[in-house]
Order: sequence, then C-alpha cells, then structure tokens
Amino acid sequence: MKKNHNLLEVPNINSKDALFKKIIYNVEDFLLNDESELTKEFEHLCICSGGTTSSCAKNGLITLDLRKNYNKIHLEKETNVVTIGGGVIMGDLMNYLEKHNRSFPIGLSKLPGAGYVLTGGVSPLSRAYGLAIDNIESIKGFLGNGTFISLKKNQTSGDKQLIWEAIKGAAPFFSIITEIGLKTIQSNPLMGTQDDEFICPQSRFAGLPDLDMEKAQTEGKLNLLAYGENVGYTIFETNDQKQLMHLGHPEYTVHRIISEINRDKEKGDVPPPENFDINSSKTAWRSHRNLLFQQWLWFCYQQVSLN
Ligand SMILES: Cc1cc2nc3c(=O)[nH]c(=O)nc-3n(C[C@H](O)[C@H](O)[C@H](O)COP(=O)(O)OP(=O)(O)OC[C@H]3O[C@@H](n4cnc5c(N)ncnc54)[C@H](O)[C@@H]3O)c2cc1C
Repeated sequence: MKKNHNLLEVPNINSKDALFKKIIYNVEDFLLNDESELTKEFEHLCICSGGTTSSCAKNGLITLDLRKNYNKIHLEKETNVVTIGGGVIMGDLMNYLEKHNRSFPIGLSKLPGAGYVLTGGVSPLSRAYGLAIDNIESIKGFLGNGTFISLKKNQTSGDKQLIWEAIKGAAPFFSIITEIGLKTIQSNPLMGTQDDEFICPQSRFAGLPDLDMEKAQTEGKLNLLAYGENVGYTIFETNDQKQLMHLGHPEYTVHRIISEINRDKEKGDVPPPENFDINSSKTAWRSHRNLLFQQWLWFCYQQVSLN
C-alpha cells in the first residue's frame, strides 16, 4: 500500500491521504468477470465521481474512479435531455450545456461530480426546478449483486419501479451508476425561470423604438429579453451580459405608483401607467421581481465565484 495522491487526484483532503488497496477504472473489470483477481480480493468498494467527499476513497478499500472512462456528455436536441457518464463533474456539464444554451440546477460549486445528482442535489434554482435528482430521466448502471440496470422515468413497473424509486436518493448505497439522463432547462440565466407571460407596471414618459432595439440585437449589441405589446422591449442586456436594463417598475409598491399617477395627473403630460389597474390596486408583479432579482444574484455569483 502507498499514499494515493500519485494515483487518485481528488479535491477532498481526507481522501487524498487515504491508504487504499487499488484503483480501478472499469466497472466491468470486477463485476462481470467472476474469475478476476479483483473479484477474489474484493471486500469493499468506494466510488469516485467528483471526489469531493471523504467517501470516494478510504484506507484499505478499493476505489472505482469513474472520472476517466465514464465522463461522456451528450445532449439529445429533440428532447433536451443530456446524458452524462457516472464520473462527470458538474463544471464540465455546465460548460457543455452553455454551448447549447441549456442549463441544469447544479449546486454552489462546479467541483462535485455525479454524486451531487445522486445524493439529491440542492441548487439555488431548486425552488424553480426541484432537486437535481428530480430531473433524472433515465439511469444505467449495476446493482450491488452485479445486475445491469437500465431504467427510464415512467417506463418501469414492479421491482424495476422500486429500484427506480430507491435509486433516486439512495443510489450510492447499493449501485454503481454509469450513465444518467437529465432534463435540462433553457439557459438564459435571468429569463429562463420567468413565466412566458408576466406583469410589470410601466410608468414612464418615453420609450425605445422597437425597430432600433431589434437592429441593435441583429448587430450583436443587445439581447432582447422581454417585450410588451403596448410598451415595447422592456428588459434587455448587453451582449457581454455586463449590463442589464429593466424599463419597468418591478421595485414599486402600489402606493408608489398611485402617488406617481396623482403627481403626473397634475402635470398632464405623462400617460397613465401600463399593467396597473388603479381601481384594483393589487400587486401582480412581486414574484416576477423577486425571481428576476434572485436569478441576477445567482448569475453574478456564478460569474464571479465559479468561473
Ligand atoms: C465546494 C462544494 C460545494 C457544494 N455545494 C453543494 C450544493 O450547493 N448543494 C448540494 O446539494 N450539495 C453540495 N455539495 C455537496 C456535494 O454535492 C456532495 O458531497 C456530493 O455527494 C459530491 O459528489 P461527488 O461526485 O463530487 O463526490 P464523490 O466523493 O465522488 O461521491 C460522493 C458519494 O456519491 C457516491 N457516488 C458518486 N458517484 C457515484 C456513481 N456514479 N454511482 C454510485 N454512487 C456514486 C460515492 O460513492 C460517494 O458516496 C457541495 C460540495 C462541495 C465540495
């Protein structure tokens, strides 16, 4: 036995120093070959996908490092389901999806591997998209007894359904997962979580001509993100995503709008606000505002801390 850091490079410092028996890279090496030396000497097994936990390598145990041979990522464009190997790291998944304008609710770091998905996966986007595990569409791998499994959401029954349910949360306890199909989401970091239609009061004197805005988009200067028939383009960003503009008043309270209406009535040169009914005086834009702000914070965090 020798120190593993020459053989197993992992972020977790406890695992870095583990004295292990062996590292293997292929599930089949020991599961499918009854005669293999590994099967004979096999006692306990650690699985490593991202290697961010102390469970990926332990003193005296064999580690199956999935990162080398189970790291493929493929997006099925028709279904927007991405298939990842059991050793894929979340940062690689995000980088891949970004190129296809898709995203996935990863956690606060790009370091964790498939273990993040298999152990639940709480994301800042979970309020909108659920846990990472809620987005599993299919799974392939081996049970502890060596049985190969290939399961798809809503296409299982009987024992397979029980295994499907158990895998969703407890996979690391009784299986080696070699492939996971994941639902992806449209990736505009700010608007992807908004409803297709939302309300936001617009109280302003001037606007920006639609044609000019569209020309700026064609020229690659702006991304136009939200449009209202009466108010034109109201949310847009510069192409480098460093500046975001919202021409509406998501931050306003009802009282503030009413006070502006009364103020402008006296002046007589400002049209009444759009998307606001002074007779009802109800707020209908709070969730739009909160979600946009939450997404913006998350986006800034990703840009500054994860890149
Ligand atoms: C910096 C940092 C930030 C984090 N942020 C979040 C967060 O925001 N939200 C959150 O929910 N969690 C977060 N975590 C926790 C992280 O998601 C878990 O520790 C996760 O289990 C790590 O997975 P891994 O693949 O990196 O680790 P590993 O140590 O490789 O694996 C973790 C466990 O999963 C098992 N496992 C891994 N891959 C497989 C597989 N293919 N088949 C079967 N079993 C497998 C392993 O045996 C091990 O028990 C964070 C962790 C770190 C280090």
